[in-house]
Amino acid sequence: MTHRHTIYRLRTALPLAVGVALTMAACGGDDGPTLNVYSGRHYGIETAFAAYEEESGVNVEFLTGNDAELRERIAAEGDETQADVYLTVDAGNLWKAGEDGLFQPIDSAVLDEAIPAELKDPQNRWFGLAVRARTIVYNTDLVDAGNVPGTYEELAEPEYEGRICLRNANNDYQQSLVASMIAADGEPVTLEVLEGWAANAEIFANDVALLEAIAAGACEIGIANHYYLARLLEENPDAPVALKWAEQDGRGAHINISGGGVTKYAGDVALGQQFLEWLATEGQDTLVADNHEYPANPDVVPEPLIAEQFGNDFTRDQLAADVLGSFNADAVRLMDEAGFG
Ligand code: FE
Repeated sequence: MTHRHTIYRLRTALPLAVGVALTMAACGGDDGPTLNVYSGRHYGIETAFAAYEEESGVNVEFLTGNDAELRERIAAEGDETQADVYLTVDAGNLWKAGEDGLFQPIDSAVLDEAIPAELKDPQNRWFGLAVRARTIVYNTDLVDAGNVPGTYEELAEPEYEGRICLRNANNDYQQSLVASMIAADGEPVTLEVLEGWAANAEIFANDVALLEAIAAGACEIGIANHYYLARLLEENPDAPVALKWAEQDGRGAHINISGGGVTKYAGDVALGQQFLEWLATEGQDTLVADNHEYPANPDVVPEPLIAEQFGNDFTRDQLAADVLGSFNADAVRLMDEAGFG
């Protein structure tokens, strides 16, 4: 089947949110039904949409943009929205969309079976579809593997002053990491850790720049999502950067998700459900391949690159994604209180 690629402007009666991409793209063109997806998840998501079209005969039209802006856009558009499905990254974003009433509960035996309970909403409004681990990364020329700290909290100790790189406070990944620390350690301990981090760290606006700084030796140790390191090593296998799975003697490495749900306003709920079910099963490989994420479905084997480089048998923090999301605001407040950038 040949795909006719078309890009056109999204019909909307509402002003566009600043920064949101203005085009909806489609890979279809056949007579099948059409599914509209708003996606904050990028990194080759088009490959998954095209594969789904091939297999299902459904036309997928999609709008990509910033996660929070697309969420706010669905809220603003209300029942005028074209979005049948909202895909996004970060448990905090999914949780907020659920709290804002943008999703509807989906009763699906396929999703129940495919997605572990801790990676989805207990009310089945949203489902994690891929997993990203946020863990400790280090420069292998500057730090011996045996001296790499095994916990996030240790990086607050005075010996790491001027040696570490961390993410900015308004980043979702950083917020979710801190949320997981609040869940594990409580607020007083987390506040102390954040004060230590603030004293020790240089702050970066994205994980790519952070990893490049570590590769260049500008800092010795940091915290990053595993797939950014996979990408760096794919491009430059000799980069002197490695990861250490955090908290392996404790709660496990911090896990975040990308995922989605069927919007409250979906024109064809069954179609949206079918798409999520496909992403959680046959579509898992395609969904994670370009981004080097781990599959959310434990029956699916991770792609060779990350399976060989990072392994799949590390201990993962089992904190429920909705609890993680629910601590997001506390994480933001504590970072502010600690003066953490
Ligand atoms: Fe990312």
